[in-house]
Amino acid sequence: MFLSISEHSCSLRKWCNVKGPIIGLEPSDREGQPDYEIRLGKDHRVYCNCASWRYSPAPAKTCKHLKRFNAKIVAAAAAAA
Ligand SMILES: [Zn+2]
Repeated sequence: MFLSISEHSCSLRKWCNVKGPIIGLEPSDREGQPDYEIRLGKDHRVYCNCASWRYSPAPAKTCKHLKRFNAKIVAAAAAAA
């Protein structure tokens, strides 16, 4: 399932202060690269550790991984309804 609390070493750098549990992993588009970590921050926002998320404009920060992750949640919710 999506909810798994992990004590991974933090790869979020300056976002470490809001580090929360990893709620999902999205595969990188590049072969051999580690999965991107989707995290629920202590400020209740959802974080990704990719570069495009970091550089996307606040406060509506997003990236293709978060969009894919959200689409999966929506699909799972629709299937459960
Ligand atoms: Zn991302």
